[in-house]
Amino acid sequence: MSSNDLITIQGHWNFKYTYFAGEVATRFFNELKDNRRIMGSLCPSCNRLLVPARAFCDACMARTTDWRSVGPEGTLETFTIITTAFPGLPEPPIVMAYVTLDGADTALINVVRGEDLSDIQAVAKRLNEQPRVTVRFVEDPNGRITDFWFELLPKPSTSDVKGTAA
Ligand SMILES: [Zn+2]
Repeated sequence: MSSNDLITIQGHWNFKYTYFAGEVATRFFNELKDNRRIMGSLCPSCNRLLVPARAFCDACMARTTDWRSVGPEGTLETFTIITTAFPGLPEPPIVMAYVTLDGADTALINVVRGEDLSDIQAVAKRLNEQPRVTVRFVEDPNGRITDFWFELLPKPSTSDVKGTAA
């Protein structure tokens, strides 16, 4: 073994924990459960609607004020395709994506379902086009991020696309 060979280090984490979600996250998750809607909170200083709702703006540090619902449609901004099993995540392969829901100024991460992942390259190519998506809720939401997922909307036909060329 030369000094350039990379070493491995054994580790083991396995812990259960409970944390206080706070006022804003509590309402955000209750809105999923009770009203099947995704809520953002408005920064009165920069006027951005932060999704998921948070107590303070990450840019201005101002306390957020009004609550507004967003979506259910939005634009997929970026994604990753996970091919390794992780505790707490669905069986791989899975797609995770950041989506800016309509009306929101920040993106929200969740699972994308409904794509045929037998051809990952083809899915990646389609997702790179930053497609439009919609939110789908589970039958019986229980106030967790797993209450909903994203699904791609059909590609608009060329006749639906408004030309922007001068
Ligand atoms: Zn702000």
